[in-house]
Amino acid sequence: MPVVTSILVVEDDDAIRIAVQRGLRERGHAVAVAPGGLAGLEHVLREKPDVVLLDLGLPDVDGLTLIPMIRAASDVPIIVITAQDDDPTMVKALDSGADDYVVKPFGTEQVAARIRAVLRRHGRDATAPAPVLRVGELTVDERTRVATLRGEPLELARKEFDVLHLLASRAGEVVSKRELLAEVWQQAYGGSDRTVDVHLSWLRRKLGESAAEPRYLVSVRGVGVRLVDPTDGA
Ligand code: CA
Repeated sequence: MPVVTSILVVEDDDAIRIAVQRGLRERGHAVAVAPGGLAGLEHVLREKPDVVLLDLGLPDVDGLTLIPMIRAASDVPIIVITAQDDDPTMVKALDSGADDYVVKPFGTEQVAARIRAVLRRHGRDATAPAPVLRVGELTVDERTRVATLRGEPLELARKEFDVLHLLASRAGEVVSKRELLAEVWQQAYGGSDRTVDVHLSWLRRKLGESAAEPRYLVSVRGVGVRLVDPTDGA
């Protein structure tokens, strides 16, 4: 199972907080939220998250004030969220203990990359780095939960990634739908093949192929599916 990163998002703007939470959850992170600074500080002390995303403009305590308060108690990496590219504020934030920052509006991909970078610097994701799986032009990195095709990251939902990872870890082998249900959905019995079929079809679309003209995902009728390297001669 992949190492789950726990992330706290301290942000009073509902829309941003919800979007960030959803985006990071889809990437397999455990995400908690706090709409204000004090609630955020309390969470840091109690739950000890791996990373904090901290909005600077908060209704109760200014983010800049909060950074040293967090620092006094914890060395958790802090990524500041700011409304504008305001150099003096950023310098102050970094000087008072923030590790990095993102400027609104930002995409989840960017935040996820910043999180990976601060964790790398903090050496927190150094535990048991799983090798990156490669099948043809496809790579699947369990540690970062990022899959790429020809170097381009694929936008995969959590279960889609899990399915792809399982198939890649057993590339060339036929994996039955039962096994996928058991491993990915933890439903050894009673799960529906239809669930697997639907996820496989989404995955195919994202890989730019179809069941009729498969490249990577080859269905074996009545048995299951296997991931193959389409560049492998055959
Ligand atoms: Ca705000």
